Amino acid sequence: MRNVLVFAIDGITSALGLSCWKSPVEQIELASTFPTTSTTCWTSACTGEGAETHGIVGVVHTLEGLQRPINIFEYQPEICTLATGNFFHDAASLGYMPVALESDLTGLRCGWKDSLLKWAKLRPSGTFFSGRPAESVPIVDILRAVAEEVDAVLSDGHEPKLVWCFVDIDQWIHHTGYDEPTVKFLRMFDDICARWSERGNIVIAHSDHGLVETEHSSEVASVFAHVATRFNGHIGGAGRVRWIHSAADAEEIIAYAKPCLPDDVAILRREAFFPAMSNLIRQRVGAVLFVATGRKFVSMPGYCYDHGSLMKDELFVPYARWQR
Ligand SMILES: [Zn+2]
Repeated sequence: MRNVLVFAIDGITSALGLSCWKSPVEQIELASTFPTTSTTCWTSACTGEGAETHGIVGVVHTLEGLQRPINIFEYQPEICTLATGNFFHDAASLGYMPVALESDLTGLRCGWKDSLLKWAKLRPSGTFFSGRPAESVPIVDILRAVAEEVDAVLSDGHEPKLVWCFVDIDQWIHHTGYDEPTVKFLRMFDDICARWSERGNIVIAHSDHGLVETEHSSEVASVFAHVATRFNGHIGGAGRVRWIHSAADAEEIIAYAKPCLPDDVAILRREAFFPAMSNLIRQRVGAVLFVATGRKFVSMPGYCYDHGSLMKDELFVPYARWQR
């Protein structure tokens, strides 16, 4: 059995990934899931299920039995309790040792991470992009660190392994967009994947969502705050998709808020975005969603690119396999 290396490259559009990677034997454009928020997308990638089944709906949301929304990166209990396992579980049942490098999840302690990596042997490692300001470290040094961490796992014992490695280049793209260092990283990454495949490994890389140009609008932010106050609610969601948790009637909220919002912010009932409805969606997502359809929305300070919505570059991501 050959080792299988799986690289989870956060935040790469299909168009960019497929144009930068020249040596894979297979390349496919994948449609991601909604919302195009990392926690949702990576849970879908690891379980094969949508948010309606795994229940990971983004970052800020309510939970059954709680009054106020949680932030998923701070909430410690497991909130995804799928009994059907994940791809680490599948790999173990097929005779691989499943290993997850902590990589760019290092330092994060929350129930979402625990459930994402459940059934994997967690291996401490350095970080690549996490916690560093954009362009503070040469790309070549980051690639070297990725290669060293993965090679260290491969040389540790003789059993066949499935190695999962999270590369959070998304953190940079939020601040700089798809600039020259991002392209350079992806092209050099193609070279090291080709070398691993020449040594007999099967190498897979894919992303979770892309990012699109986003400009923070204080006008939109003040509408969200005003609507939350008016309907005694809380704003949830993340990035370019937000929603209101409120006991008020959805149609009443929409009728009140719609005239205040610019044309490129859609306001629709939850059912418009979750055609496969479930109790988990009803319990965790507000009944009315605000979704960016253009450039202006709410965003974090310093961000010029963001994700969460359904524009083509947010939804479509690359999948590639290197194999000799
Ligand atoms: Zn992401």
